[in-house]
Amino acid sequence: MDGLLIGPATRRQALFASVCAFAILLTLALAAPRARDALPGIAPFMPMCALTVFTTSSIAAFLLGARFAATRVAMLAALGGAYAFTAITVALQLLMFPGVFARTGLFGALPNSAEWMWVFWHAGFPALVIVAELVRKRLPASPFARERLDARGWLLIAGPAAVAALLGVLVTHVDLASPFRDVASAAPASAIADNLAGLVICALNLIAIALVLLKGRLRLVLDWWIVVALLASLVDAALNTLSIERFTVGWYVARVFSMFAPGVLVCVLVWEVTTLYRQLADEHATLIRASARDALTHVYNRSYFDEQFREAFERAVRSGQPLSLVMLDVDHFKHYNDAFGHLHGDACLGAVAGALAATLASTLPAPGGFVARYGGEEFALVLPDTGADEAAALAERARAAVEQLGIPSPAAGGYVTVSAGCATRDAIVASSPNALIEAADAALYAAKQAGRNRVSHAGASFA
Ligand code: GH3
Ligand code: MG
Ligand code: MG
Repeated sequence: MDGLLIGPATRRQALFASVCAFAILLTLALAAPRARDALPGIAPFMPMCALTVFTTSSIAAFLLGARFAATRVAMLAALGGAYAFTAITVALQLLMFPGVFARTGLFGALPNSAEWMWVFWHAGFPALVIVAELVRKRLPASPFARERLDARGWLLIAGPAAVAALLGVLVTHVDLASPFRDVASAAPASAIADNLAGLVICALNLIAIALVLLKGRLRLVLDWWIVVALLASLVDAALNTLSIERFTVGWYVARVFSMFAPGVLVCVLVWEVTTLYRQLADEHATLIRASARDALTHVYNRSYFDEQFREAFERAVRSGQPLSLVMLDVDHFKHYNDAFGHLHGDACLGAVAGALAATLASTLPAPGGFVARYGGEEFALVLPDTGADEAAALAERARAAVEQLGIPSPAAGGYVTVSAGCATRDAIVASSPNALIEAADAALYAAKQAGRNRVSHAGASFA
């Protein structure tokens, strides 16, 4: 569970992330030369993108916070903080953007408030990833530091969110000059050089990528996808640097990548949780299967017998079909143990159980039929929809199968044998599961008394 996101990346995950990174860089290479080409203006595109970024960043912050709560890994809290910061800055940018909710923007926005919130959003994300990489070493998750780390970890999420809100207050109260020069008419080269904010943001993204590569060495799933998110953020910033004007190729592609940066992490987290859920379900099913088996003989165990036999009995009562039970006991098994030791005795029980299971399987039993180890060297065959004669015939085949194993024994016959007692719940008279067990036991005792290595019946049928 702790491996989620911070587990080692598999080869497939690394390959998939590499393909994504390559696609992002290819898109940059294709879009960059046409970044300033004008496209038809779609006014709702910007608010739609901003809303998507807000939603996905909030989800990413929440999921990373939840992962932090489960693992106490400070880096996850710091990354959660980066996404919380993104969510608040993008929301404020949208609210302050002129013409979206109000002509001049909400919260008494000044002319450049929305532009500055854009800058804080884009610079804050890589800057906070850098912080996350720095706390990666400084705050090792040790049980000793657990409580203090908790408080500091939550601060790593709440702190950036609070800073984002304060920056919102700042840009609505201080009339800052535009972070961008009016570059609409400038030549592309000088427009890029003059777009200091864009260049700083690109540099921050590059530093963050370098730090993730240096510190994480792409060992964890998270390393790969944070690099992909930073690349998307870098392409977003680079295309905005190339073309600040709205509704250009660069502007549209940059908006798409601004949605990709938080979206990719949410997708990976959801994917990882789904994978984990599937693994848990598989392991649970394996555990349930294993818990029904006897560890020594691999046939069903006593608790499975108790539950399933009772259910088979109730089904038989409801359907009026017969139910047979055969109890088998290894003859003179104490002598066998005394002669060969308990380890050989264990192996012998395994072989006997195997012969019983093979006999049952070869008769294609009705659904619900099974072999169980009742206890010690005693086994039970549960046979739904099986009449007394059929059960007796099967018990005889099982007895013969054990004898044919030819396991040498110090007992009279020279080989390991079993005695069997059969009881069948008659279709006419109802009874209890315990009564049927007692009847089969009594028949087994009769078989022992009659000389062992034989099958005995509880009358013609048991009622
Ligand atoms: P009978 O023919 O009357 O059944 O004689 P028996 O010797 O088989 O009966 P008894 O009940 O006297 O002895 C059963 C023996 O089975 C004693 C016990 O040590 C052995 N046994 C029970 N469980 C195991 C096991 O898991 N492994 C081994 N090796 N022996 C076991
Ligand atoms: Mg016994
Ligand atoms: Mg015995």
